[in-house]
Amino acid sequence: MLAQFQRVGSGLFAQGFVSSQSGNLSIRQENHLLITQRHCALGSIGERDLVETGIAKNNRATPLASTELAVHRCIYRKTPALAVVHAHPPYAVALSFMERQVIPCDMEGRSVVAKVVVLGKGMTARAGDFGEEIAEALRRCKVVLVEGHGTFAIGQLLEEAYYYTTAFEQSCRILYLLKGLMVDLQS
Ligand SMILES: [Zn+2]
Repeated sequence: MLAQFQRVGSGLFAQGFVSSQSGNLSIRQENHLLITQRHCALGSIGERDLVETGIAKNNRATPLASTELAVHRCIYRKTPALAVVHAHPPYAVALSFMERQVIPCDMEGRSVVAKVVVLGKGMTARAGDFGEEIAEALRRCKVVLVEGHGTFAIGQLLEEAYYYTTAFEQSCRILYLLKGLMVDLQS
């Protein structure tokens, strides 16, 4: 269990998809979830960094959980997800200011994530915001993007949600490069 969190957390950190204390991961265990704790360093997750709490009910550990706990809970209530990965991948976040939806044009992105909606347009997102909207959007797609904030991806395993996050960020990077090439060609 811990090893899954460590593999995904260190992968996200190594690629610059989270800062030293941002991003959060969780898995569902029946009526509970296991989630990284508040201000957890995803690059070096230890056993004490994982908090178990209810999906519907609080317990003594709840205050220690990630500040995005409310969003993870909404996702588990509304979707069949068994794992959630939240990250701040820079190309995706940059595109979130420019687009209402992101449609990958590369082969892998097209087949893996197809289309990603951008939520919270024109609003300043804080941790824990837009839980209902994020969960609703994730009933139709594997990844959603919150403007100026980051991605939420779901899967049956953390590795699966991590893969969608990395494939989508790769697509955003390609879109960003293409936009730059078009500007160069026009000038
Ligand atoms: Zn965040």
